[in-house]
Parts: sequence; C-alpha cells; structure tokens
Amino acid sequence: MTGDGVERPSRSLFDAVVGQDRAVESLRAAARNPVHAYLFVGQPGAGPRAATRAFAAALLCPDGGCGECRTCRRALAGTHPDLVVVERTGAALDVDDARRLVTLALRRPLEAARQVLVVTDVHLAERSAPALLKTVEEPPLSTVFVLLADDVPPELSTVASRCVEVPFPPVASPVIAEWLASRGTDAERARSIAEGSAGDLDRARLLAEDPSYAERLALWRSVPGRLDGHGATAGTLTRELLAATEAALAPLRAEHAAALEAMEADAKAMGERGVPGRKDVVDRQHREERRWRTDELRTGLGVLARAYRDRLADALGAGGADGGSSATRGMVVSRPDEARGHAQAVALVGEAVAGLKRNAQETLLLEALFVRLARLGG
Ligand SMILES: [Zn+2]
Repeated sequence: MTGDGVERPSRSLFDAVVGQDRAVESLRAAARNPVHAYLFVGQPGAGPRAATRAFAAALLCPDGGCGECRTCRRALAGTHPDLVVVERTGAALDVDDARRLVTLALRRPLEAARQVLVVTDVHLAERSAPALLKTVEEPPLSTVFVLLADDVPPELSTVASRCVEVPFPPVASPVIAEWLASRGTDAERARSIAEGSAGDLDRARLLAEDPSYAERLALWRSVPGRLDGHGATAGTLTRELLAATEAALAPLRAEHAAALEAMEADAKAMGERGVPGRKDVVDRQHREERRWRTDELRTGLGVLARAYRDRLADALGAGGADGGSSATRGMVVSRPDEARGHAQAVALVGEAVAGLKRNAQETLLLEALFVRLARLGG
C-alpha cells in the first residue's frame, strides 16, 4: 500500500539487484512515469542486467510491477516478448546492429502497452553512435530504451546526454560479504572473498564456489619470503602464480561451457542447425575470462602490497622498540633501511597494478616486479 493510490513496483521486484540502492530507488520512481531512454553505466558484475529485467517488469506489468503476474515473471526471467535485447554481432556495436535497432524500435509491442528495448555494450558503439543517437532522439512513443555501457567514452557523450543516466558503481565490499553470507558462505571467508571481488557480484559468487581461493592468496603472501635475488626464483614464482591464476578461471570456464551447451540443446530442440548468435556469446565469454584474469592478478598484487605494508609497520614499530638495546650497530641502522625498502616495495607493486591496466604482458610484468623487489632486499 502506498497511501496515495499510485501503483508502485513491489519491493521484491528488484531483489536480484544487490547493493545498488540508489539505482533501484531511481528506477522504481522512473517506472511510474518513464522517459524514452535510460543509460545504465557500470560493469556487468555490478548488476545492471538484473536491474534491466526488474525495470522492464515494472514497465510492462499492467500493475506497475507487482512481481507476481505472468508478465512480471517472464520479464524477470528475460523471456517476455516485449523485452527485446540487442546484442552486437561483431567486436563492436556496428552500423548493421544500429539498423536492426531502428527496425525493432518501430515494431509495435506484442503484448504489453509498450516495449523495452535493451542495447548492450553501448561503450563499444563508436561507429554506430550517430545512428544510435538518431534512434534515441526520435523514439516511437511505445518504446523505452535501456542502453547498457561499462563506461561512457567521449564519442558517446551526445548519446548519453539524451538519456537519463543511472550509475551502477562497484558494489561495496561489506554488502558483498553480507550477500555471500546470506547464501551460506561463512563470515570470515565471505569477508576475504568480498575484498578480492573488485565490487563484482559474479566474481564473488564464483570465488565462493572455488576451494582454492585461500591457497592462491597464501601463494601471493609467500612471495616476499621467497625472493632471493636469483632471476630463476623470479621466473619460478611467476610461473606458479600464473598457473594458479589460470586454474582460478576453471569455475568460470565451466559455467561458460554449460551455458553454451544449454544454447545448443535449445537450438536442437527448435530444429535449428546451429546456435544463432553463438559467436557473440563466445566473444563475450572470452572478454569475461580476460577481465576475470585481470581481476585475479589485481587481487593477488593487492595481497602482496598488504604483505609489504605489514612488514613496513613491523619495521617501523620494532625499530623504535629495540633501537637502543641492539647488540650491533648494524641492527640499529638496518631498521629504517628496511622500512624504506618495504615502502619502495609497496610503490613497485602499485606500478605493476598500473601496468596491468595498460594490458602489459603478464609474464614480463611479474618477472620484472619480482627482480626489482628482490633487489630491495629483506
Ligand atoms: Zn506484474
């Protein structure tokens, strides 16, 4: 009951959208009196897709999103015929995709009073931006656009300016921890996973199913103690860490393979000879796997930085405590040196994280880092 006689989307409608209270609040309000175009900005793991389905249910349901009727249930499952998703067919959202979009936008809704037209990967729409702009600027009355983009590159700023922008920032770590705990992960492990999940619920969910996560963190934490100045050691550590990173991809790869299998079974049941859009799906899976690797390495480097920060705190604290009573002059001098070394180590790890962002070659990046860290000494 809302008290003012206005139908509002039920609370449960947006249940699948975790940790995006502001976005959910604005979408619940928007559903009552929607404009023609929305732009959801954020990484897929921050929940924009789940939000799209809930928003569509609110827009298509005759009761404004009751969460229970057949319209709502199909919209939430992504199977309502008036919730249309346009995925790009190539590496970028191309002119052909934009043309398909124009045709779809002119279509009359099949069941509901309006249709919701979702366009994914709009950040890759550099070449089709003019066509996209034209469509979004002159939309048929019965179409609501939801554009999804990881970010807004400059060439899309005009398109963005014609839409109501709804940000989906990375999900806060405590929210992810709580979410994992509610799904049965124990609190301590949930906290550790949440910290390594980069605000990404998909990643958090898969890490929670991955028994080797703690071992990988321990491997990264062991690096400072194992560095001995030999180039061979840097090579060994790099190989071990990259192998562990590769193994970490296994749950995601299994999920991807299962999704493809389900699509193939569907296509077969429909009497089709191939899977329509298969290449699209495979491309997207590869991008996700690539992003997963990068997140995994960033998490590991974060653990390494923390290990050096702990040593730094130790060196600073201990230096003050035994400075006067130390047996040898060397010991007294060595503590501040040690602290300086650890501080430099933290900075070097930070540079490696920046290198990762620039897509530096992983093996070279890690080997160079370990050689430089070893040179700093203890
Ligand atoms: Zn409903």
